[in-house]
Amino acid sequence: MASTRTVSCNGCGAPLDVSASARFVTCGYCDARLRIEHTDSAVWTEEVEKLARDQKRIAREQQKMSKELRRAKLERELADLEREWEHTRASVMLRREDGTLIEPGRTLPWVLSATVVAALGALYILRNESLEFGLVVVLLLGALGGVMYLRISSMKRAYDRALELHVERTAEVEAKLRKLGRSR
Ligand SMILES: [Zn+2]
Repeated sequence: MASTRTVSCNGCGAPLDVSASARFVTCGYCDARLRIEHTDSAVWTEEVEKLARDQKRIAREQQKMSKELRRAKLERELADLEREWEHTRASVMLRREDGTLIEPGRTLPWVLSATVVAALGALYILRNESLEFGLVVVLLLGALGGVMYLRISSMKRAYDRALELHVERTAEVEAKLRKLGRSR
């Protein structure tokens, strides 16, 4: 047997008789399309249109929020990458006497010219000594310069690799950020 109950319209407040099993009803007074909600102790109505609007609004807000969270996360990632790079960079750079850092690649021309100048200077100073002694000094200076050059070259390669990796990773995160910006 189908019992009935009375609910009030959420739109205009009019009392409406509905069957106990009904889930929807249209108000005979204001034409609002209503959904019947109930707990064990209470029963009430919600306008269907309004409900749909609210749900859409909530979904939009959630979407916006998750996008903002994602953006914040990516921006944090960028800042982390930058910090990490500063750290890595310091470890693959040359430290001057005064503590300042210099990119290894920039010192290579100096190493080369210092070696050549030192060798020429030694030759000039020793030009009146024995030829053998002069040649030994020049060879030693050349070897020293060569070792320094090789060592700094390998530091330069480490620096270049680290920089390349940093640029690559930064570009990746920035591309994600741009994509997020476009779909806003
Ligand atoms: Zn109504």
